[in-house]
Amino acid sequence: MKAEMETSIKSELFRELDMDIAKKMFLMQTHRLQSFSTNWPFKNTESCNIQSMAEAGFYFCGNDKENDTAACFVCGKILDGWESTDIPMEEHRKHAPQCLFVKMGKLEKEFSIEDFMRIFQAIVEDKISKKITKHKTKIRIDCKNYRDKFFKNN
Ligand SMILES: [Zn+2]
Repeated sequence: MKAEMETSIKSELFRELDMDIAKKMFLMQTHRLQSFSTNWPFKNTESCNIQSMAEAGFYFCGNDKENDTAACFVCGKILDGWESTDIPMEEHRKHAPQCLFVKMGKLEKEFSIEDFMRIFQAIVEDKISKKITKHKTKIRIDCKNYRDKFFKNN
């Protein structure tokens, strides 16, 4: 596929995608970049800058007190205690080698449509899987409580 055609399909795809959902998922590098508050502790001239953080898949999830906490938009790995000389992608690889984004080893601008869809699918599957686990746990607790109540009364 010609790069030109690929770019045009990609922009079509982004138009179709609900941008609110994409934003909430920090799907796009630009959304991740916007998430970093102005008090991120490192300057743009340092290697641990917000551009490199967003490129490496991280979005800001800290607060005023903890202003160096970031999470990966794919694997959800949360990292803090960053140092100015850290290279975000290397830290991501070190702490979450299983992450699909890390395994792909590409920048967003190098993503094909298929890469993008694989990432999207991985995020959605992970979210669904976490929800199922949460419901299973709730059902298990509810059943135990009913059992305990039943046997106490009989
Ligand atoms: Zn990750």
